[in-house]
Amino acid sequence: MFLNKNFIGKFFRSNSYFFFFAITVFISSCFLVAEELDSFLGPRVNKNTLWVGNQIVSSSISILVMAGHADSQDIPGEGTSGEAVALKGLSPMDPSMSDELFWNLKVRDNVVKVGKIKGLNINAYDPKKRTIIDENDSKTNWSIGSVHAAQGGYVLEIHFDSYGRDGLGSGLIPPLSRRLNNIDESLAQSFGRYPLFFRGGLGAPRREIRILEVGKLEGNLETSLRDQKMRQMTLDRITNKIVDAILRGITKQDNFNQMLQEGDIFLPNFYQ
Ligand SMILES: [Zn+2]
Repeated sequence: MFLNKNFIGKFFRSNSYFFFFAITVFISSCFLVAEELDSFLGPRVNKNTLWVGNQIVSSSISILVMAGHADSQDIPGEGTSGEAVALKGLSPMDPSMSDELFWNLKVRDNVVKVGKIKGLNINAYDPKKRTIIDENDSKTNWSIGSVHAAQGGYVLEIHFDSYGRDGLGSGLIPPLSRRLNNIDESLAQSFGRYPLFFRGGLGAPRREIRILEVGKLEGNLETSLRDQKMRQMTLDRITNKIVDAILRGITKQDNFNQMLQEGDIFLPNFYQ
């Protein structure tokens, strides 16, 4: 069918209000969807950051996933008890561990399961002993993780952030390394970005272990994890967000083209 050009021009002009309206609705609905997808995790960390991950990684890189606080129960640093237990008086998910560890373990195992299905070279580490006093013991997350990282692997420790004022929100805490890579960048774009020297350089980042704060253990996120009908769906959403970000990072065979923000300090090593 042929349409006369004049007819098309006239048609758009006479319906311009309609098109303006339709385009506005379309664009705003895109933002609504984006907002909704992100908001199931609650707030993102909101801090000024300087880093960009730009190193290309091998698609067969060995990825080790650990559950934060898996070796520090009953000692300071055992993880947040979550809003439900601490403020609402609900029972812990498992009385032998903090609620954060309970969920860290669930996310770790789901990420490894789904990651393998999606073709990642990914495994979990569990120290088995839930209380190891000496952080340099060879079985701790930190010890095993730092050895794995030194051998060229990628190490990710899963965490949930504190509820209320103590927590900052979801995001990746990068390792203190000159070799921040495309997986770091992709996770930071999906979850948020903590500063490089967050809290003066935490124990894990000093050992080249990445910390992923999934979200604050409170509100809708915690409620939907605790709700038996919504639990698996929520774990799967978290898991897919993590696995897909890792996949985007390893399949990207050039640099993420991120511009420096105004006020950022130029860090040549991070730009190769
Ligand atoms: Zn934690």
